[in-house]
Amino acid sequence: MTDPLDRILALVREHIPDVRLVHKHELRWMRILGKAVRPIAPDFDTHYTTVLGRTVYLPRPPEHMPRRVLAATLAHELVHQLDQRRWGLLFYASYAWALPTGRTMRAYWERRAYAVDLLIAKERGGALEVENVARRLADVFSGSGYLWMWMGRASARAFLRPTVEAVMSGELERQAPYDVILAAWRGPEPPDEAA
Ligand SMILES: [Zn+2]
Repeated sequence: MTDPLDRILALVREHIPDVRLVHKHELRWMRILGKAVRPIAPDFDTHYTTVLGRTVYLPRPPEHMPRRVLAATLAHELVHQLDQRRWGLLFYASYAWALPTGRTMRAYWERRAYAVDLLIAKERGGALEVENVARRLADVFSGSGYLWMWMGRASARAFLRPTVEAVMSGELERQAPYDVILAAWRGPEPPDEAA
């Protein structure tokens, strides 16, 4: 029997065969970075996962994370890994780029990855849970955790809306890479008893 973590990890390895899961506290430069951003993003160290190429930097040792939480995290990060591979330097440069208007390309990349969180929310609790997560995401997008990547809570909600709607209508789960990610999350269909 496999669970979502086994299947998501297998999917990640199909795309990134040498993927590494690292607890970021074990790395000196990550500890320094965490300290540097603490005044503005106090949760960076304890809550945020970062991904660079094949390495996923986790806020906790992977073996201490609940399996479903780790599976959902890796599914989100897989979207970033695929985007990083496809866009290369352009991804990294634009991820760091910020306009003085409080609009960033980072928000576009994160909206693509958080679409996975919304799809999983739908699996977990339907429309109500999608709306709960969408509300939390409006705070995440407009708050300091990602350095105000989309200023203004109402504006962040509006920015996320098309993705929320594509999740609710079922349109997004038919698109790559969400189709394969969701299939891995769900696992094989139970055998048809009538067959
Ligand atoms: Zn992300």
